[in-house]
This record gives sequence, structure tokens and C-alpha cells, in this order.
Amino acid sequence: MSAAETGKHHGILLVISSPSGAGKTTLAHKLAEQEKLEFSVSYTTRAPRQGEREGIDYKFVTEDEFSQMIKRGEFAEWAEVHGNRYGTAVHTVNRALEDGKDYLFDIDYQGGAQIRRQWPDDSVLVFILPPSMAELERRLRRRATDTPEAIERRLAMATRELEHFGEYDFLVVNDNLETALKELSSIYVAARSARRRRGHYGQALLAEARQLARPPVLLSSK
Ligand code: ADP
Ligand code: 5GP
Repeated sequence: MSAAETGKHHGILLVISSPSGAGKTTLAHKLAEQEKLEFSVSYTTRAPRQGEREGIDYKFVTEDEFSQMIKRGEFAEWAEVHGNRYGTAVHTVNRALEDGKDYLFDIDYQGGAQIRRQWPDDSVLVFILPPSMAELERRLRRRATDTPEAIERRLAMATRELEHFGEYDFLVVNDNLETALKELSSIYVAARSARRRRGHYGQALLAEARQLARPPVLLSSK
């Protein structure tokens, strides 16, 4: 049920996706810090990269643990991306919906589609585009966190990922980082003021106004 129907304030599920290397993790972390947004920490079967911290960047689990979690129905969505599995815990989404906290999800287009299908009124989907394919490749190589084979795999996957930009509400081109962050935060701030999120304030105010029952003012025609 949507927030407008229950009269309860649900948190926004802000989904950010992009081809690998376009800069969504950089942007997502900057936005989370700037707007004091909760960051949804995913589960993954991928090995940690240098500098990644357990429970902060990801919750790193084995293939077997991940399969057990699927069986127990603990994922709101999960997908295989670049040969590894990634998933969002049901309890994270529930916390957003029940506590009214806004959450940011750095997930791929398969996860974005699953979130949209289940929570169409509570999700806002943003796709980050690189300025060009040449720049995408440069960023992946400069990041130097993956093996040359993994970089090739990520580049090969970029076309399939880009094919899904049409399923998103907003597109942000990450050319200049500051400009892209400004656009992203504007989208988030605007989403918070959407009528269906603020409808309960309007309803409460209208009820109060009616209760005050001031007689209508007769306007003179002069
Ligand atoms: P993704 O999460 O989409 O795979 P990252 O956030 O890891 O991408 O960014 C990929 C690389 O590009 C990183 O080294 C990051 O510092 C760099 N980067 C991100 N945004 C920009 C930008 N606007 N200009 C130049 N480099 C960027
Ligand atoms: P990376 O290995 O570079 O951290 O992430 C690879 C891809 O997996 C990225 O596109 C990222 O957005 C996606 N991803 C990370 N966590 C999740 C998740 O929980 N669910 C889904 N569907 N994708 C995720």
C-alpha cells in the first residue's frame, strides 16, 4: 500500500544504477553524506577489493551463505552481475518503509526493476551515464581495482546495462562530478516534495482547516 493510502510517511527508495565505471558509487557516497541518507549495504559473493570494509561497503558472504539467504527469503531483490551475486536484504527495505527513513541503493538494472515492481510508489530510479564510452573505459582502467580480464568483462557488459536506461525516472550524465552531484541531489530533494509523499500533510492541514470551521468570507464585488 502506498504512503498516500496509509497516511504513513514511507522513506524513499532511491535507486542509483549505471554501467560499471560511470561513477555511481562515488556519487552515491557523496550524496549519502551530503543529504544524511542511509546507504543500503548489499550482500555479495564477490571478494573484497583493496580498501573495502566488511559491513560498510558490502557484507561479504560465501556462495553457500548467499544461497541459504535466498532460500530463507531474506532478499528483497538479488541478481548475478559480472559473475558474482549481489542482493539487498528485505529488512533494509522494511526499515525504510516502516521507519520513514530514506535509503539509497547502489544496485544494477535487474535490482532496480525488482524494486520498482514491488514498490512503484516508494521508489525513485536514477541512471548515471558516462560522458562517453572512451571515458568509461579510462575510468575503469584508472580505478585499477579489477584485473584486466574483469575490466574487459565490465566493458562488454556496459552495452547491456545501457539498454535499460529507459526504465529509469531520471538520467544524470556524470561528466563533471560536482555538476552531476548537484543534479542528483536536486532529484532527491524534489522527490521528497512529490505530492504523493506530502499528501498526508495536505490532508491533515485540510482537516484542521475544516475543524476550525471559519464561516466563509463574503467578498464584495467592488
Ligand atoms: P561505479 O560505481 O559506477 O563502478 P566508481 O564510482 O567506482 O564507478 O567510479 C569509477 C572511477 O571513476 C573511480 O576511480 C572514480 O574516482 C572515477 N570518477 C567518478 N566520477 C568521475 C568524474 N566525474 N570524473 C572523473 N572521474 C570520475
Ligand atoms: P561492484 O562489484 O563494482 O561493487 O558492483 C557491480 C555491480 O553490482 C554494480 O552495478 C552494482 O550497482 C551492483 N550491485 C551492488 N549491490 C547490488 C545489490 O544488492 N543488488 C543488485 N541487483 N546489484 C547490486
